[in-house]
Amino acid sequence: MRWLIAVWRWFVGWLVWLLREPVLELPEAPREEPRVPPAPQYEVVHVTEDPDEVLPGILYAVGENGHLWHVALVCPCGCGATIALNTLPDDSPRWTLLEEPEGPSLKPSVWRTTGCRSHFVLRTGRVRWC
Ligand SMILES: [Zn+2]
Repeated sequence: MRWLIAVWRWFVGWLVWLLREPVLELPEAPREEPRVPPAPQYEVVHVTEDPDEVLPGILYAVGENGHLWHVALVCPCGCGATIALNTLPDDSPRWTLLEEPEGPSLKPSVWRTTGCRSHFVLRTGRVRWC
């Protein structure tokens, strides 16, 4: 008789296992969105006038006859704002554009005081967030 009870217990245990509540699948924790999108690699385009449309990834060096007046670029944060930076030595603040084979560098860092308030450094064409 004991074997029957053992089989019965096994059977009931199996039934309980079969009819158990399905394990609740917890939804995956929402991934933390990166604060800023990956910034594009910038390359320099020399122009004599401000471009009608400033394209992402292009650093416009605006000047003439070897004189650089200012540079213009789209804010790398994705806000779409155009950033114009003075490069004339007599004005302040003033940025220095360094053109290297790997890409352009700007000194000092760029810190927007309005809008998105992005703060970044452009080194050899790449944006490094501050
Ligand atoms: Zn921005």
